[in-house]
Amino acid sequence: MAEKVVIIGSGPAGWTAAIYAARANLQPLVYEGAIIEENRLQGTLPLGQLALTTEVENYPGFPAGKAREYLGTALPEDRQPYWVQAGKEQPSHGVNGPELMELMRQQAVNFGTRIVTDDIVKVDFSRRPFVLRAREGQTVEAMSVIIATGARANYLGLPSEDKYKNNGVSACAVCDGALPRFRNKPLVVIGGGDSAVEEGTYLSKFASTVYLVHRRDQLRASKIMQARALENSKITPKWNRVLEEVLGNDKDGVTGVRLASTVDKQTETLAVSGVFLAIGHTPNTKFLEGQLKLDDKGYIVWTKPQRTWTTVEGVFAAGDVADSYYRQAVTAAGTGCMAAIDAERWLAEHGEL
Ligand code: NAP
Repeated sequence: MAEKVVIIGSGPAGWTAAIYAARANLQPLVYEGAIIEENRLQGTLPLGQLALTTEVENYPGFPAGKAREYLGTALPEDRQPYWVQAGKEQPSHGVNGPELMELMRQQAVNFGTRIVTDDIVKVDFSRRPFVLRAREGQTVEAMSVIIATGARANYLGLPSEDKYKNNGVSACAVCDGALPRFRNKPLVVIGGGDSAVEEGTYLSKFASTVYLVHRRDQLRASKIMQARALENSKITPKWNRVLEEVLGNDKDGVTGVRLASTVDKQTETLAVSGVFLAIGHTPNTKFLEGQLKLDDKGYIVWTKPQRTWTTVEGVFAAGDVADSYYRQAVTAAGTGCMAAIDAERWLAEHGEL
């Protein structure tokens, strides 16, 4: 029998949609993504981008405080943060990204959400019920679908960058920054947005120096995060520069970078042990091509203001996969809620409840 609603994706949008759909008795089925190397490399593992960050200071409801007891009681033992499991001191935060995502997931489970740890790789929206195919070959039929697959970090596309991926080149400081190869070494972060300054600030805890390489002479990042990075004595901005080549060898991985000036094309070489890309995102919509309307950057197009409707009736989109503008955890959660309500009303109107 066809599912009433299938949710694809497991960031704040997906879990919020699941919580609302479960409480509306829609018995949601969530495809949270596959735990495979390909997804690790491109930053699309379950729990989304928030699971790749550290402290979350702007998600309402989590001021700094004593989170131990709460996390210890809210989550099953095997999904508790390492510091709760090991009885270690609490890091200085209200909640961090992975913890917040585990809490959302658990809240969805508590209301009866079913979860499949796999990717949806193909969809057929031309017939109803819709047909979704998972990576492992399983197919599922759905009367309505909520797409919440988010976006992933971009790379520049240089052959040398590709060559040293996993050998000194990364797009996730929080995942890789603490590795021994980067400790007390000079590192480089490329980009000028919130991600770049956040990653630079994070890496400065381990690195000897962090060069922040930006193609302009002004950061795009929010003022508070800029100030934090620029006041950090371990962070050296390199204005008006782009990464031309990653230098290295098979034995040591990355050993340096060649930067080119955007002003006079002069180049310079820096000795570094790591290169961290923070140059924006690409929506995870490849599996949707030809099935519904995407914009020129691949984001799903919402067809009506204040609704999560897409160009296919009964298919709704929530979170970063349809939002290249706000891209915040709380806005993703908000549109996840909207998508569940939109799906419920649509199912009711079509006599499917
Ligand atoms: P972003 O704001 O789009 O910034 C991307 C940066 O990369 C820009 O500075 C851009 O330069 C640069 N860039 C893009 N393509 C490039 C290229 N080919 N070569 C060199 N530089 C390139 O992306 P983001 O920093 O990932 O942030 C995305 C969203 O997430 C934002 O809404 C941000 O506020 C949010 N976010 C929030 C937090 C937080 O609040 N804690 C943390 C991370 C992200 P230009 O400036 O010249 O365009």
